[in-house]
Amino acid sequence: MATVTLIPGDGIGPEVSSATRRVVDAVDAGIEWDVHEAGVQAIETHGSPLPPHVLDSIRTNKAALKGPVTTPVGTGFRSINVALRQELDLYASVRPCKLFPGVPSRFDEVDIVVVRENTEDLYEGIEFEQGTPELNKLRGHLSYMHNYRLARDAGVSIKPISVSATKAIVEYAFAYAKKNRRRKVTLGHKANIMKFSDGVWLETGQRISDEYRDVGFEAMHVDELAMWLAWHPEDFDIIVLPNLYGDIISDLCAGLIGGLGMAPGMNLGKDYAVFEPTHGSAPDIAGQGLANPIAMILSAAALLRHLGNDKGAVAIEEAVSRVMADPQTPRTADLKPPGEPATTDEIADAIVSALT
Ligand code: NAD
Repeated sequence: MATVTLIPGDGIGPEVSSATRRVVDAVDAGIEWDVHEAGVQAIETHGSPLPPHVLDSIRTNKAALKGPVTTPVGTGFRSINVALRQELDLYASVRPCKLFPGVPSRFDEVDIVVVRENTEDLYEGIEFEQGTPELNKLRGHLSYMHNYRLARDAGVSIKPISVSATKAIVEYAFAYAKKNRRRKVTLGHKANIMKFSDGVWLETGQRISDEYRDVGFEAMHVDELAMWLAWHPEDFDIIVLPNLYGDIISDLCAGLIGGLGMAPGMNLGKDYAVFEPTHGSAPDIAGQGLANPIAMILSAAALLRHLGNDKGAVAIEEAVSRVMADPQTPRTADLKPPGEPATTDEIADAIVSALT
């Protein structure tokens, strides 16, 4: 019996979480859920979007399954997703994008794993709001030290990229490639423009790649990478990216495999692991039972594998595969079924029935 922290999240989070819980409970994985609120509800009940007891629970249990949490735009509310990753040093975000037969896609075969650096880059939170005394000080400094004239009406976000964080994530990508017998790592960057941040990323990545001669390696400008992904996704295997590009490119890759409803994810550190779908809280469909729970169900399968329960993980993945391969079984609206779309609960029912 393992205890795992469960954060249902908000928006569609509670709907996809309860569907996922049913599937995991149906494989007798022996998991006891330690359920905690985070996000908007937690502000109402505990005065903070990420109350300390939620972090304590993950620190105790070492693993968590998390639904999406809303980050309102333009408020003082900092992203709890970013805070969680930084607090627990979950430096590796791993987002497998595998096309299941039967899922509508423009492509026949896609099997890409996006490995995203999760702790720094423009997500570090070093931000200067337009018109503040802090930004005026920075403006003065930039003018004095670098003769750079920062526009009066600008806001500023700073992008740090370190050798140590780059080394950790690129080594993770190569180790993952070796363990999972993958053929190639593609490193995306924009070092031609951001010479001192992406420059560190590229140079460090190239240096690490020399230590893994048995895995293929290529470096590519991220804009070119986006073009090739949309055209020939079969040419890619593992893609390692800094935080912001990783966020964008993993959504692009989700679009190759049937959309965000099919894209699972995990956030891994040396001590803790948090499993969560790539998608957000989808306020446009929340509360209507329309959300596709498969991204979160596949994230839970990855959790089981992490806990050493390969049998449970494979059982869930094969059940999802069987449901998707059968044209008679229902699909949620995001997969654009020909007839009446299925509800979140109906998909969970179909997956539970397909478990062998
Ligand atoms: P989103 O992923 O919530 O939604 C984008 C689109 O995809 C929407 O049309 C939505 O309906 C659809 N979609 C997403 N998941 C789906 C699912 N499971 N089934 C069917 N359709 C699905 O992205 P957004 O609208 O940019 O973000 C909404 C909120 O979520 C924001 O506050 C954002 O900050 C937050 N967010 C949280 C996380 C997280 O908790 N890890 C990740 C991304 C975004």
